[in-house]
Amino acid sequence: MNPQLFFWVPAILRLLLALGCAGVIWFFWGMTAGLIAGVAIMTFLVAVQLHYLYRLGNWLDNPASEKIPDGWGAWTDVFSRLYRIRRDTERNQAELAEWLTRFRQAMSRLPDGVVIMDDVLFLEWCNPVAEQHLGLSLERDRGMRVTNLIRHPDFMDYIILGRYEQPLTLTLRERKLVVHLIPFEDRRQILVTHDATQSERIDMMRRDFIANASHELRTPLTVINGFLEIASTQPNLDQATRLGHIKLMTEQGQRMQNLVEDMLTLTRLESIDYPMRPERVNMGKLLEQILQEGLALSAGRHTITLTVDGSDINGNADELRSAFGNLVSNAVRYTPADGSIDILWRDTEQGSQFIVRDTGIGIQPEHIPRLTERFYRVDKSRSRDTQGTGLGLAIVKHALLRHGATIAIESEVGKGSSFIVYFQSSSR
Ligand code: ADP
Repeated sequence: MNPQLFFWVPAILRLLLALGCAGVIWFFWGMTAGLIAGVAIMTFLVAVQLHYLYRLGNWLDNPASEKIPDGWGAWTDVFSRLYRIRRDTERNQAELAEWLTRFRQAMSRLPDGVVIMDDVLFLEWCNPVAEQHLGLSLERDRGMRVTNLIRHPDFMDYIILGRYEQPLTLTLRERKLVVHLIPFEDRRQILVTHDATQSERIDMMRRDFIANASHELRTPLTVINGFLEIASTQPNLDQATRLGHIKLMTEQGQRMQNLVEDMLTLTRLESIDYPMRPERVNMGKLLEQILQEGLALSAGRHTITLTVDGSDINGNADELRSAFGNLVSNAVRYTPADGSIDILWRDTEQGSQFIVRDTGIGIQPEHIPRLTERFYRVDKSRSRDTQGTGLGLAIVKHALLRHGATIAIESEVGKGSSFIVYFQSSSR
């Protein structure tokens, strides 16, 4: 029914009924009685309206807690409509609260920081990552100006210049942060922060690696090119000099080959596209090969012993050969003639251990933590003289990482070094 008719028809009917009653009384008991009855009925009707108006007023004062009153006549419709409005509002509020909770949860899981501010940069909300990145605390700093909280000159300039199309990179709290301010709605702004420390470090490592590798390759290439130039400009060199040059060129060629091979090995070990294929590794056989290689490299200058006292393990034989081979080759290269090298494979309760102990030159303690960095050498010229590429221990570290093993280095300058590799018992 039309809502207007729905309101007016019963109201007019009720009024007519009241007037009818007054008319009947007038007819039977005279005019005075009829007028009194009419006034009484009208007073009653007005009193009823006032009563419900009063209850409506009371309810409006505290709509959330009070029950909606029952009505009479047109009030029934008013109250039932109010009830529906309240129910819809409550449902909307519940949905909004749920949506807000979900939104906050999603924001909290983001790997990036998010700060929501009003148009004059007063902090309204931020997620925990933004708290970490920017040193904010939502509880403490809500309602404060973000430029008073992030006191970094570059950030201030970024805000003042207002060139928000471009993100800004800044170093804050020992982190490399990429921050981007995005205006949204008319009166809100979002600040997104991304921690680029790790990617920056990887980029730097990559740049260093390329620079180091190029430098390492340039030296032997320069030597070879020099001798080739001599060969072409001085064709009548005597046989002994020519042989000497060829020997030096061969050494430099070998050095370049070692370097390229080590770089390829390292790249392969680091690549996630190259998963380790574990197999049962016969440690006795593998270590015997390592011993033979060590003896060949030593060419009789050292006493080398091998003790195999441990069980076989699960791993990749090629990668283990590479790791152990590098450790033994280092022991040979950094131990003066007549020194001794002991290679030991044994089982302990915690897992198996591989130990290479030498009586070589030793390493100063400050160098030990950096030895597994690529191209890190204690003594560059000594390393090159012994055909070292500077990548050996980096290869060892990565090969062992893939086996869940760790390495410890103990050394004393002038007395010797021990490289101890710990395998977990789960490798057996
Ligand atoms: P390199 O090819 O130069 O030997 P590595 O990565 O294998 O590169 O080793 C890094 C550095 O660690 C070496 O340059 C050397 O200074 C030091 N080093 C490694 N093993 C030993 C050892 N057994 N005794 C003394 N110094 C060692």
